[in-house]
Amino acid sequence: MKIWNFFPREALYECYQCARCTGSCPALEVAPAYGPRETILKCLNLGHEAVVQDEKIWLCCTCNVCEDRCPQKIPISDLLVALRNSAARRGNIPGKLSIAIELLAKTGRSMIVHQLDEMRAHHGLDPLPPAPVEEIRQILKKTKLNEVIDF
Ligand code: SF4
Ligand code: SF4
Repeated sequence: MKIWNFFPREALYECYQCARCTGSCPALEVAPAYGPRETILKCLNLGHEAVVQDEKIWLCCTCNVCEDRCPQKIPISDLLVALRNSAARRGNIPGKLSIAIELLAKTGRSMIVHQLDEMRAHHGLDPLPPAPVEEIRQILKKTKLNEVIDF
């Protein structure tokens, strides 16, 4: 997959490494070694083939704060999404994420919460309705996730 079909490569050269994006990125709260500025620099210095091997690209939660703060308006979360799509096609998906997607395809939920109905009842809430598993599987298939994760 050509990631430059999904992110304008020339935008990488508009970055002047001011680090405003990295200074605003919430992912740094859990992984100080990560940063959107650093990701752009690695794409320029090492090429995207090297960057898609790096598990840190999965830390981005696509909140778009970086783009909002970027004086050059570089669509950084689009870059992260393109890098992750490319990584996924190469089989580089973090194990926990694969498990969550498999679970979503099988149960309609990405995690199992034990005694959920009891906890909801404790707070005066009705039980959750059944998840629309077949509809969710159709959506996952339309996004071609079934081509990279077996479910
Ligand atoms: S805020 Fe924009 S210009 Fe500054 S380092 Fe980040 S991407 Fe580059
Ligand atoms: S979109 Fe990703 S890289 Fe940008 S600030 Fe949010 S978490 Fe960080």
